[in-house]
Amino acid sequence: MTRALLLIDIQNGFCPGGNLPVAGGDQVVPVANALMHSGRYDLIVASQDWHPANHGSFASQHPGAKPFDLGELSGKPQVLWPDHCVQGTPDAEFHPGLDLSAIAHVQKKGENPAVDSYSAFRDNDRAALTGLVGYLKNKGVTALDIMGLATDYCVRFSALDAVDMLPGVQVRLIEDGSRGIDPDGVHAAIEEMRSAGVAVVSSKDILAA
Ligand SMILES: [Zn+2]
Repeated sequence: MTRALLLIDIQNGFCPGGNLPVAGGDQVVPVANALMHSGRYDLIVASQDWHPANHGSFASQHPGAKPFDLGELSGKPQVLWPDHCVQGTPDAEFHPGLDLSAIAHVQKKGENPAVDSYSAFRDNDRAALTGLVGYLKNKGVTALDIMGLATDYCVRFSALDAVDMLPGVQVRLIEDGSRGIDPDGVHAAIEEMRSAGVAVVSSKDILAA
């Protein structure tokens, strides 16, 4: 078994003080560090939301829109976000407490201004792949644990895509290593992931095993 850990968007922008803060987002940092140093993983990868300043998911690009409005992007419904994780800004950097030394590969996403990319694997329109599926297949990954920010968006879409795009790979959500934007959305997202075949586990179980 080749077990990989995928850290989703543990960036300043999604932590308290960031432009799109998730409540308690910084609390996943020590969980990630403990898991990375646990010796339980053969491979550690991270995704990084990496938007151009004119990204179409930003409310600022839609005249009259406010952040968190439901708008449209390239003809599809799109939650309009505050400007966040703009390429080259501190908001897009990984949280300073995250130990980057064990991360073998960083998958940037969200670079195309015309489509959002919640998933680390492909754009929301499912047309363009990021390359992460190929990378993990090439490494012979057979089990993938996913955690990070935010449970109800990027973690959820990444986990669902992992099940869909990596057949035969055991996919698990590390629940206490993830934080979400909307409490109801988090609950629904976890049920959706579970229904799709994602096992829901806690870091304590992994560290104790
Ligand atoms: Zn984004």
